Amino acid sequence: MPRKLSRKRPALVVHGGAGALRGVDYGREVTHMRGLVELGRDLLAGGASALDAAVAVVAEMEASGLYVAGRGASPNEGGLYELDAAVMDGATQGAGAVAALQGFAAPIRVARAVMEKSRHVLFAGTGAARFAREQGMTPIADPERWFTRVGYETPAGTLETGTVGCAALDKRGRLAAATSTAGVFRKAVGRVGDSPIVGAGVWADRTVAVSCTGTGEMFVRCAAAAQLAFRLRLGRQSLARAASAVLTEVKALGGNGGLIALTSQGEIAMPFNSYGMKRAALTIEGEIIAEVARR
Ligand code: ASP
Repeated sequence: MPRKLSRKRPALVVHGGAGALRGVDYGREVTHMRGLVELGRDLLAGGASALDAAVAVVAEMEASGLYVAGRGASPNEGGLYELDAAVMDGATQGAGAVAALQGFAAPIRVARAVMEKSRHVLFAGTGAARFAREQGMTPIADPERWFTRVGYETPAGTLETGTVGCAALDKRGRLAAATSTAGVFRKAVGRVGDSPIVGAGVWADRTVAVSCTGTGEMFVRCAAAAQLAFRLRLGRQSLARAASAVLTEVKALGGNGGLIALTSQGEIAMPFNSYGMKRAALTIEGEIIAEVARR
């Protein structure tokens, strides 16, 4: 008897950063994230892979100018726009990332090209830009006109509006995660956070897909995204327990932030220990949530 292919209901989780500010109305972002979840739902319902859906959602977030990623990036303290992005395909554990990339409109698409078109995982700086050019990625003609500089006036080193990310589960039970950012405000020239570091700001395997947001240095120092996956796979912890334990470690190191995680069973976690987090989800039951959760 041929084994029946297992068909699953798709699910999707999105975040727009763990740096929501007090007293700011994020109505536009919430509406936007709801639309993105609907886009992801339609793609997945139509048979798109988790990888296609996660990249499509993050590319829309980059293009919107509403978040500190892609078009909404803020410059570093040298006035340069250096962007980080990463993607991971849970089915293959393939990964691609760019760090401190300058001059290209959709860093997440460059990250995907690194995974699919190169024999490497991470390109940085001028090498990343060179690779993007070779791959025919869309260049930015005039950075000063292109970037919308979301929240540029906020204090150096703070998260405020933040990173974007998506975790997706497709009908074939495959997972993928994608993360994109301009990093913390007025970061030093050349500073790279957790977002493009596989195992820190992004992770996907056959069990779970994770995208993080927060003070990147601390997420790197505790391998936040991979730690969550290993707590599930090796430590046999529940998703909720593993996710909260990771954020406790981040906090113990002096950081804060949040993460989204989605398992192959369709379980969702989206905890944070910052003031608030922009987040949205499609559950396997088909319910859509879109909100700025605040403490
Ligand atoms: N984690 C990002 C970084 O440190 C910032 C953020 O999530 O807002 O680059």
